[in-house]
Amino acid sequence: MWLELIDVARTFGTRAAVNGLSFQLERGAIGCLLGPSGCGKTTALRCIAGFESIDAGTIRAQGTVLAQPGRSLPPERRHIGMVFQDLALFPHLTVQENVAFGLTRLSRDERARRVGELLEVVGLSDRRTQYPHQLSGGEQQRVALARALAPKPDIVLLDEPFSSLDIELRERLSVEVRSVLKQLGATALLVTHDQQEAFTVADVVGVMRDGKLEQWATPYDLYHRPATRFVADFIGQGVFLLGDVVSPNAVQTEVGVVHMNGAGEMRPGQRVDLLLRPDDVLHDDASSLTAEVCARAFRGAEFLYTLKLPSGARLLSLVPSHHDHAIGEHIGIRIEPDHVVAFEREE
Ligand code: ATP
Repeated sequence: MWLELIDVARTFGTRAAVNGLSFQLERGAIGCLLGPSGCGKTTALRCIAGFESIDAGTIRAQGTVLAQPGRSLPPERRHIGMVFQDLALFPHLTVQENVAFGLTRLSRDERARRVGELLEVVGLSDRRTQYPHQLSGGEQQRVALARALAPKPDIVLLDEPFSSLDIELRERLSVEVRSVLKQLGATALLVTHDQQEAFTVADVVGVMRDGKLEQWATPYDLYHRPATRFVADFIGQGVFLLGDVVSPNAVQTEVGVVHMNGAGEMRPGQRVDLLLRPDDVLHDDASSLTAEVCARAFRGAEFLYTLKLPSGARLLSLVPSHHDHAIGEHIGIRIEPDHVVAFEREE
C-alpha cells in the first residue's frame, strides 16, 4: 500500500482533532478527506506531511514508517509535495523559477527539462517568464501544482486548493487538476469541505466526522450506498421518509411500498427512515399519487421541486424544466429509487 494510516490520533489539550483515523491509498490513486469544518481534515493532512506529531497509531508510506507516537520523520525527508489554499508562490520569482524551486539536486539541463515538462502539462508554457502577480488566480493555482509535482514526490497533499477561487473557476480547475495528477501518475490526497470538488477530483473519498472516517468509498457508493445516516445527510440532497419494514426488502411508506433491489437486510416490523434522493422521485402525470409543489428552484435543464405530501412530509424531485409547475399545484409523482437506503429510526 502506498499510503496507510492506522488508528491515527492527534489531540490538542483535551480535544481530539483526529481520533482513530484509518485508511489506505494505492499508488496513483487520488484520495480525498471530506467533512464539515472542524472535523479534523487539515490536522490529518498536517500529520501526514509531518508538521504535526501523532499521539497514537502509525502513518506509513510505501511500507516506511513516517510517524508513530514519539517517532517522526522530518517533513523534508517524507518525499511529500504540498499545495496549500493560499498558494505561497514566491512573488519575486518567475513562473519557471517557482516551478524549479525544489529541483536543486538536478543538473541545469535536467531542471530546465523538468520545468518545461510540468509547464506543458499545466498549460502554462507561454507564461514561463511572468511573475505570479501577472497571472490569474487559476493560473497561479496551476503553478503551485506544478511546483509541488516537479520534484516527483511520492505523495502530493492538497489542502483546500480551490477555496479562494470563484465557483466557476473552481469547477474547471478541479477537472484540470485531476487530469494533471492522472497524466503524471501522482498519488494524491486532497482535503476539502466541498463535496462537488471531492467528487470531481478524487477516486476515493473519506467522509470525516469528529476526527474519524464515517465511510471511505468511491463517490458513487457514498451517494448511492451511504453507510451511515451522517453520510447520507452530508452527501447529496435528499429527505428521509418514515417507513415500516414489511419484508426484508420492502418498506411501507406514505407513498406506497418501496422495494429494494437484491437481498434486503431489514427486519419486518422495524421502523425506518427511508432515504429518497431528488432523482428517486419522478414526475408522472398518469400517477394517482400526487404531492403539492411548495418550492421550486430553476436549474436550467431541470427544476428542483420541493413537494409536500398529505402528512406534511417533504420530498425533493428533479424534473426536466419544460414541466413548469407553479407553487400550490398538485403534480403526479412516482417513486423509483435506484438504491433503497434505510436507517433504523431513532425514536
Ligand atoms: P476546517 O475545514 O474548518 O479547516 P478541519 O476539518 O480542517 O476544519 P482541523 O483544522 O483539523 O479541522 O481542526 C480540528 C479541530 O482541532 C478543531 O476543533 C480545531 O480547533 C482543533 N485544532 C486544530 N489545530 C489546533 C491547534 N494547533 N491547537 C489547538 N487546537 C487545534
